[in-house]
Amino acid sequence: MIRIGILGYGNLGRGVEYAVEANEDMELVAVFTRRDPASVKPRTNVPVISADDAEMWKNKVDVLILCGGSATDLPEQTPAFAKLFNVVDSFDTHAKIPAHFAAVDAAAKATGHVGVISVGWDPGMFSLTRAYANAVLTNGADYTFWGRGVSQGHSDAIRRIPGVKNAKQYTVPVPAALDAVRSGSNPTLTTREKHTRECYVVLEEGADAAAVEKAIVTMPNYFSDYDTTVHFISEEELLRDHAGLPHAGFVLRSGATGANGENKHIIEFSLKLDSNPEFTACVLAAYARAAHRLASEGVTGCKTVLDIAPAYLSAKSGDELRASLL
Ligand code: NDP
Repeated sequence: MIRIGILGYGNLGRGVEYAVEANEDMELVAVFTRRDPASVKPRTNVPVISADDAEMWKNKVDVLILCGGSATDLPEQTPAFAKLFNVVDSFDTHAKIPAHFAAVDAAAKATGHVGVISVGWDPGMFSLTRAYANAVLTNGADYTFWGRGVSQGHSDAIRRIPGVKNAKQYTVPVPAALDAVRSGSNPTLTTREKHTRECYVVLEEGADAAAVEKAIVTMPNYFSDYDTTVHFISEEELLRDHAGLPHAGFVLRSGATGANGENKHIIEFSLKLDSNPEFTACVLAAYARAAHRLASEGVTGCKTVLDIAPAYLSAKSGDELRASLL
């Protein structure tokens, strides 16, 4: 049995609890939190421990799955906990992955642990697809589309506007742009041509709807480069129709071979997820198995999904995999 710990019990932490249950070779031994442990109630009967006392669990946890936020939690937590445990995280700030890798690599190598970072779907399974597709179709172009799905960052940005009580934002790929890529014509697409943004907003009593709409659609970085639609709805409608955290996305590489590039090839990988955190948690569990195996082989340091062979993810043996999935 691989003994798993969860650090941070939010959406992702709850998802990892399900994912560990779904893997027969894993058991959840503890949930660690920065909050008062008595205030955190896991769905299953597992001890909740203060993150400050994690060191006492060093020899009782094989892999710690870090479920904190990428913005401020993981840059501190992953290097710190890689000194005590083999760790896996879902760090998704793409531009900062090289610096995060270096910090986790130093901590993990110094203490003889494995740290697997940026596991999930993007970064994660989408990164794998981009890497395979680029290696195979050397002459080509890459495209990634996200949605239809909830963007937490954009929803938070709307909630910070004065007069807004609650909000959900969906990122939606433009069908014509997807079709153009699938045609093999290698289009050059602007930000506006690739995605639209749909906002569902609950106003505070007496708020000015026109002013809120203007503040949303003109917001730099978040909305001003997109065609954005704003729908004002009641709190009941938001809770009834927009409570979930679905997401989806497409990774494509369009390439050409032949003397004059006359033969076109499209590689396409897509996901459609009812629950972004529950799916991300499933990927984290598979890479926790890989971290455990690598550690048992004496490997140390930081790894990403690009460094780990697929067979390490599976509970099946090499013989079983060759007979059933090759
Ligand atoms: P949450 O905001 O739900 O949880 C983040 C942390 O907040 C928790 O671990 C928890 O830590 C803390 N927290 C504080 N107060 C509360 C509270 N009242 N209820 C719940 N948690 C609380 O974030 P998510 O779990 O949705 O996402 C975590 C990260 O996962 C995201 O920042 C994102 O970067 C990453 N992610 C990556 C993906 C990928 O494809 N690579 C896909 C999806 C997400 P504590 O218990 O210690 O207080």
